[in-house]
Amino acid sequence: MAQVEERTEVRTIKNYVGGSWVDTEASDRIDVTNPATGGAMAQVPMSGAADVDRAVRAAREAFPAWRATPPLERARACFELKYQLEKRKDELAEIVSRDNGKAIKDAAGEVRRGIECVEVATGIPSLMQGANLEDVSRGIDSDLIRQPIGVFAAITPFNFPFMVPLWFLPFAIACGNSFILKPSEQDPLAMELVFELLDEIGLPPGVANLVNGGKDAVNALLEHPGLSGVSFVGSTPVAHYIYETAAKHGKRVQALGGAKNHVIVMPDAELEPAVDGVLSSAFHAAGQRCLANSVCVAVGDVYEPLRKRLVEKADAMVVGEGIDPETEVGPVISSAAQERIVGWIEKGVEAGGELLLDGRGKGSGDGAFVGPTIIETEPDAEIAREEIFGPVLTLLRARDLDHALEILNASTKGNAASIFTTSGGAMRKFRYKAEAGMLGVNIGVAAPMSFFPFTGWKESFFGDLHAHGRDAIDFYTEKKVVITRWPDA
Ligand code: NAD
Repeated sequence: MAQVEERTEVRTIKNYVGGSWVDTEASDRIDVTNPATGGAMAQVPMSGAADVDRAVRAAREAFPAWRATPPLERARACFELKYQLEKRKDELAEIVSRDNGKAIKDAAGEVRRGIECVEVATGIPSLMQGANLEDVSRGIDSDLIRQPIGVFAAITPFNFPFMVPLWFLPFAIACGNSFILKPSEQDPLAMELVFELLDEIGLPPGVANLVNGGKDAVNALLEHPGLSGVSFVGSTPVAHYIYETAAKHGKRVQALGGAKNHVIVMPDAELEPAVDGVLSSAFHAAGQRCLANSVCVAVGDVYEPLRKRLVEKADAMVVGEGIDPETEVGPVISSAAQERIVGWIEKGVEAGGELLLDGRGKGSGDGAFVGPTIIETEPDAEIAREEIFGPVLTLLRARDLDHALEILNASTKGNAASIFTTSGGAMRKFRYKAEAGMLGVNIGVAAPMSFFPFTGWKESFFGDLHAHGRDAIDFYTEKKVVITRWPDA
């Protein structure tokens, strides 16, 4: 607790470059606020091209020795990081809750999921192995080896300020690359602590670097000739821009974008678990999850009972400051996000939607609160098609499963989708036909597990190799095939 309080002083956070905490060369700073109170906790510097160049140089300098460090030793660094993160997990969850706003339960879950990525990366001596075949021709053998590539960067969003950077950092460095993180400027405090821990475990200088800032830092990374590849997570327009620009500059790139996820509830579903699954998906983390189901498609007769229970239970959800253990729905990230979400609610109603539950005005006046909101509308309404990224659930009616799938598949996004059903046949049809990469069956949030790839589709992902799982090993290594004949063999 004392640690968290210390961090609430308004101070300017630093970059971590080449093993030292350094001031930026840029003079622009923005406030990092607690969205529950509006109070400033720190200031974040808006690093520019010179700061990025410094970080890329440090990372390049560190690369040859780090690449030559045995994978087992690189795995030990990940074990060390895991131990440190475990020791500080409660503090990290508090920082996430205060900086991002999310309920402490959600923040603790995020910290657990982030640590899991570090755990998986400790398996690098096995994961990074290649393959070989003797006698590809008479007396000739062939070996496939994997080698690290150089310097990678990740540019990450506000909504998982701890977990999303860890989708990348442990895999990149365990594979023998050096790494630069540009976290969200809206909630950079958790990563500040993670880099303090990386410093404490004695990671060689320059292997992991932190550059704070926004668009200018991102552009400098994308254009820097010393950078080999970029991972991005954020909104679809920026993901698309990152994909194009990084590719134009000859870099490997994976860009995870925005979402508009559907949950289908079948008439045969168990009602109460379905209601709980839909609500926790739509409203926990104040709906600011790329896996939140924000469109609920009720099939046939389940519509009326489902609508009634969704409204009753959503209305009872506790809205408040994230740090309060009773809170289920914390504030959204900023007053600007609050205004944008309220604007969407107004637009939905103006376009003919029926407001079944109005979350405006919930929570304390000082914070950026929007309570659970449910709007009944038609599939072609803008509010049912565009990403809102807040606690707003759109309720739609479908005649049957085919109709529900038609609605789902008309979306330009394809991050995730869920179905609640007790029918194996319905589940199979959903699995076969749903055009989304992450599917939940009787699960509201099709959570990305660190040992599988996070497989968004359509405008939710630009690239080929996804984040974490085995895709991460492919993304962070280059393959080399060696064909060998020994004259004396
Ligand atoms: P965002 O796109 O505004 O910002 C993401 C990152 O890009 C930040 O680090 C930001 O500094 C940088 N950035 C913003 N605008 C930029 C620009 N014009 N040029 C260069 N860089 C820019 O996203 P956000 O609001 O922080 O996060 C929410 C979004 O992220 C939602 O759309 C959500 O669906 C998406 N998201 C997707 C996934 C996924 O796995 N697909 C996961 C988490 C969040």
